[in-house]
Amino acid sequence: METKEQYKERVAHLESDLHNLEGYMEEFTSFLPLPVCIVNADEVIVDNNEAFADFLEYSKNDEGAGTLLANIFVEDKALEELLTAARQSPDSALERDLTLVTTSGEEKSVTVTVSARHDIHDEYTGYFLGVTPIPEPAESQQAPPPSPEEEPKAEQELQKSKSKLAHEKEKSQAVIDSMRDGVLVIDNEGRVDSINAKAAETLSLDQADIHGEKIADLDYHKRLVPLIEKIADKSSEEEELKLGDQTFEVTIRSTTTENGQTYRLVILHDVSEDEFVEDMKLTFVSVAAHQIRTPLSAIRWSLEILVNQLKDPEQKKVAQRGYRSTKNMLEIVNELLNLDRLQSGKDGYSFEPVNTTELIQQYVDEVKSNDELIDQPTVVFEKPIDRLPKVRADREKLRVVFRNLIDNALKYTDSDGSVEIESSVHVTNDYGNDMIQISVSDTGIGIPPEAQDKIFSKFYRADNATAEQTDGTGVGLYITKQIVEAHDGTIWFESEPDEGTTFFVQLPIAQTQD
Ligand code: ADP
Repeated sequence: METKEQYKERVAHLESDLHNLEGYMEEFTSFLPLPVCIVNADEVIVDNNEAFADFLEYSKNDEGAGTLLANIFVEDKALEELLTAARQSPDSALERDLTLVTTSGEEKSVTVTVSARHDIHDEYTGYFLGVTPIPEPAESQQAPPPSPEEEPKAEQELQKSKSKLAHEKEKSQAVIDSMRDGVLVIDNEGRVDSINAKAAETLSLDQADIHGEKIADLDYHKRLVPLIEKIADKSSEEEELKLGDQTFEVTIRSTTTENGQTYRLVILHDVSEDEFVEDMKLTFVSVAAHQIRTPLSAIRWSLEILVNQLKDPEQKKVAQRGYRSTKNMLEIVNELLNLDRLQSGKDGYSFEPVNTTELIQQYVDEVKSNDELIDQPTVVFEKPIDRLPKVRADREKLRVVFRNLIDNALKYTDSDGSVEIESSVHVTNDYGNDMIQISVSDTGIGIPPEAQDKIFSKFYRADNATAEQTDGTGVGLYITKQIVEAHDGTIWFESEPDEGTTFFVQLPIAQTQD
């Protein structure tokens, strides 16, 4: 049985333990980095730790004591709800995000953790309350609201960039307005983004009226209809378009801006004037050619006789040179006349079955007889072993084709080179038609790569050709192509500079062979 002294001693120990425990608890909360406070049943702070004092910017540690809890939070109602919920859940700590106001008036977002305090009889006595600051979002994610003095500055910046944008737009509009070609910019919804003065004038439209309008809805402007069709046809890129009595070359390009917007740029280049100039040129050429053809033929004929009769080598050489020049000039004149006939449409086609071997042989014979008069490359015609079927052709026109190709081969090949003509049995073209293929190969100067896509154009001559041969018009191949295509045939070539060139012609076989 415990004596009275023993009992007193044990109580004293317990008291000291309890005291130590309180001290320990006080120390623990005091050094706890988390701001915490003890609140009584009337919701008044009775004690707080150092972290809490720092967080609320108290000048003294115990400054908070006696402060009504509601006074340090912005959201009264939310706080009350949190405390009530904590009272009703005695064994748990509850959390809520609230805004705390420090003594200096600064508002801090915090997560508030609350648990209700009870005495040994389970009587409710108040709360333990801790606050955890909510980290501020990174500056890049959320810019701080502009301070009152910053606000006019931001507004100024905005105005500045707006006027810069407007200025840029005005500048681009001025640039496209000053262009001699018509320019139309269509956005990816098919609306008119911009139109320059020239395009508006060409299409008889009011610039301001159609800005922002859907191009497809503008079909009540009759003049615009053919262009709308071209714009709608995404495959068309460069084509000619007739608007009234004017002709335009229409170029349509798609462009995508940095921000992913796609625009279609429509450029209208008026070629009516070019056509007029070309017409004038051809009229002049036609008149001039007609005037000089007859005297030139007479000179050529006289020189031919002279070359054959002269025995003295020196004299023969001079006459040969004269003959060659006259022959070249006559060829040029003939070519120009051919072009004139072709352009004027005066010269219709009359088709019949034509024996190509015969036609080529005739011209090769003619060339070979020249061989005796002038120095030129050797000409070989590899006659096909089997008789080839006849082609459906205009005999005179086809003669022009072979003459142009063979003459070019001779003209652009040195006299120690060679020209070879072959004609092969029908090959089947892409459409399943039987064709005759004729090729004219030479070992001459070749066609430079940069010139290859232009040599069938009217008046075009490659640089290496003009350097070698001053005579030439650049219309021979243009005429040749027109004729071949009028025969439903095709023409193409393969060429290596300084190695030689081969022109190929394919012509359809005539249905009837007599
Ligand atoms: P040209 O009167 O100049 O011969 P063409 O229309 O007949 O005019 O030919 C156009 C251009 O094609 C020539 O100027 C030349 O540059 C090139 N060309 C044609 N045939 C040949 C060839 N066999 N070898 C090299 N270049 C050729």
